[in-house]
Amino acid sequence: MSDITSKPLAGKTALVTGSTSGIGLGIAQTLAHAGANIVLNGFGDAEAAVRQIEAAGVRALHHGADMSRPADIEDMVGAAIKHFGAVDILVNNAGIQHVSPIEAFPVDRWDAIIAINLSAVFHAMRAALPAMRERGWGRIINIASVHGVVGSAGKSAYVAAKHGVIGLTKVGALETADSNITVNAICPGWVLTPLVQQQIDALAAREGLSADDAKRRLLGEKQPSGQFVTPQQIGELAQFLCSGAADNMRGAELKIDGGWTAQ
Ligand code: NAD
Repeated sequence: MSDITSKPLAGKTALVTGSTSGIGLGIAQTLAHAGANIVLNGFGDAEAAVRQIEAAGVRALHHGADMSRPADIEDMVGAAIKHFGAVDILVNNAGIQHVSPIEAFPVDRWDAIIAINLSAVFHAMRAALPAMRERGWGRIINIASVHGVVGSAGKSAYVAAKHGVIGLTKVGALETADSNITVNAICPGWVLTPLVQQQIDALAAREGLSADDAKRRLLGEKQPSGQFVTPQQIGELAQFLCSGAADNMRGAELKIDGGWTAQ
């Protein structure tokens, strides 16, 4: 029961990839409010993100690793350990999307999505696990998607990558099962972030819809709640996975999807 305090993660360090916007920033903010120092990553406004995290009274560092480059990822994990002494919590969140039928799917988009959404998760786990094992505690949280468990037309690379993340999560959980390191995946449905805004804009342009009608159409097609999941809700689920109550959650694929995959 020791971690039921207002700052249950005080003294811990969390590295959240792709955390200059959207879900990653929401998770970083939640973990910062729980007391963790944060290593931010991503191509958005790094200074603004650092300021937001420091406002929670913790320390923050931004590393600009390109998650499609294994050497950058190793450098980022090394820099985090050098700066804060540890990466106790690794949240693999960085991701990109491209929507197109298979026969027209640009090969460079396939390669980039597999590199950033899937291979980067492997490289970050590979780099972070040895120090977690040395310290005898760790949390790896992979942000997969409903598309890790079901498909959608037009999203071949994304769906393949996210299914791969779920498989990798299970293997990681088995390889750490005899330790205090856990590996789990979170599978969000629609969350209103820049990644989804692009798809809303494309739908509005294609169908001649207003922005609000395009949002309603998008949700109506897949998400029975009719509401977007929020980055804060995903952050709080990630925080729960860092608690002692989750010590025996291993290899789980936690859906937070407004009922998308219940259908
Ligand atoms: P977003 O576009 O708001 O944020 C993506 C983040 O990743 C940004 O900080 C961006 O700079 C960073 N990034 C992109 N390419 C990078 C690279 N090569 N190297 C380093 N950083 C890079 O997207 P989001 O919606 O917050 O998505 C975050 C994660 O959540 C992704 O893995 C996505 O697949 C997943 N997800 C999103 C939704 C949704 O509805 N938004 C649903 C399910 C899963």
